Amino acid sequence: MTRTTTPSVHEVSPVIPLASRTTDLVGSMIDSSTSLLAAQSHDIVRFAMGSPADEAVPVAEFRRIAGEVLDNSSFTYGATEGEPRLLELLVEQLATTPDPSALERLVITTGGMQGLDLAGKLFIDPGDLVVTESPTYTNGSATALSYGAELLEIPVDEEGMQVDTLEEAVRRAGRTPKAIYTIPTFQNPSGVTLSEDRRRELLRLAHRWGAVIIDDDPYGLLRFAGREVPTFQTLSRHDPLVFSVRTFSKILAPGWRVGWVDADPSLRQLLINGKQAMDTCTNVPNQHVLAEYISRGGLDDHLARLRVLYRERKNAMVDALTRHLGDAVSATDPEGGFFLWVTLRNEFGGVDTRELFEVALADGVAFIPGPALSPSGGFTDAMRLCFASSTPERIDEGVRRLARSLEKMVAG
Ligand code: PMP
Repeated sequence: MTRTTTPSVHEVSPVIPLASRTTDLVGSMIDSSTSLLAAQSHDIVRFAMGSPADEAVPVAEFRRIAGEVLDNSSFTYGATEGEPRLLELLVEQLATTPDPSALERLVITTGGMQGLDLAGKLFIDPGDLVVTESPTYTNGSATALSYGAELLEIPVDEEGMQVDTLEEAVRRAGRTPKAIYTIPTFQNPSGVTLSEDRRRELLRLAHRWGAVIIDDDPYGLLRFAGREVPTFQTLSRHDPLVFSVRTFSKILAPGWRVGWVDADPSLRQLLINGKQAMDTCTNVPNQHVLAEYISRGGLDDHLARLRVLYRERKNAMVDALTRHLGDAVSATDPEGGFFLWVTLRNEFGGVDTRELFEVALADGVAFIPGPALSPSGGFTDAMRLCFASSTPERIDEGVRRLARSLEKMVAG
């Protein structure tokens, strides 16, 4: 299994005049797993994609609202910055969270991914140094690569990016970074949360270097245990160097492809210009349905239900790992979000999770191998498991299948 299904440059017909940047279009094994799994006909427990539980998506309500609100105004071009009603409701909704915002700071995007792409468009020149976590959400680092960034990977421990090693790593790199890409809360893929001290230090370094913090936080509202950690915006309200990327994908449904960027108002017109060079506006019917859903006041209750659901599922996965794999693996124990990061130890220490992926897929369980979550391809002994999409019973069954696949592999 490779981490890209993008045809390599050599597979493209030699008569087609590709741009040189296509060598940096690395693709995403995470995203490709969707079609790979759809093509399988046997039963598979799905720990691979970071999708919300089917039961967590208020489908009946979305369908009802769509029937009521969609009209001619939903099927024409919309405002690039977002539908006015959705923007207003978002400001009201954010006022109840740690990151209150204002109209002039917000642009609606086509999912969080477009927010990351706009960050690349606005901040990254070819050759610029961009700091990422290691492991990281490689779709995010792939966006930076597609704008010609060179990545500086900083290891993650239980308190998030090891910010204390960052200065030395930057000194060795011989130049300061242009951007620092972080998933501070319930990180994808490790599930860990950047501590308050490290957030403060990252802000200090960003200001010293004149680097933008790309604050990618799709999971922050899904805390089901532990104490809230102040966000970058709380620690440095409306800091011009903090570029926050948000999405409805994890709290409502990824198929909407609706997210937002919360950034310094001086960037707003450039964000709009950047988006106008991409997709004119975010899908209008989707914004109309989401706006009406939010206006009915259901989002807070929905989030409260999700926290209960995901706490139960995270516990089920931790228990299943202990039951079926014991001390042959170590796993993170996140206080929110969707993912556990599992490292193979003892008798399974030599197993490459890319090979395990093939065996496990045949045995009926899918996950993301560690190297697909590392721009430099490390973590061959690790994997990301999403606990959000499966019921506790299915989680137990999936981990049981995983243990069986591992045993098969070491038995040769
Ligand atoms: N950032 C992170 C850390 C994510 O986990 C995801 C979704 N997996 C995204 C961004 C992209 O979100 P969206 O699906 O809204 O584009």
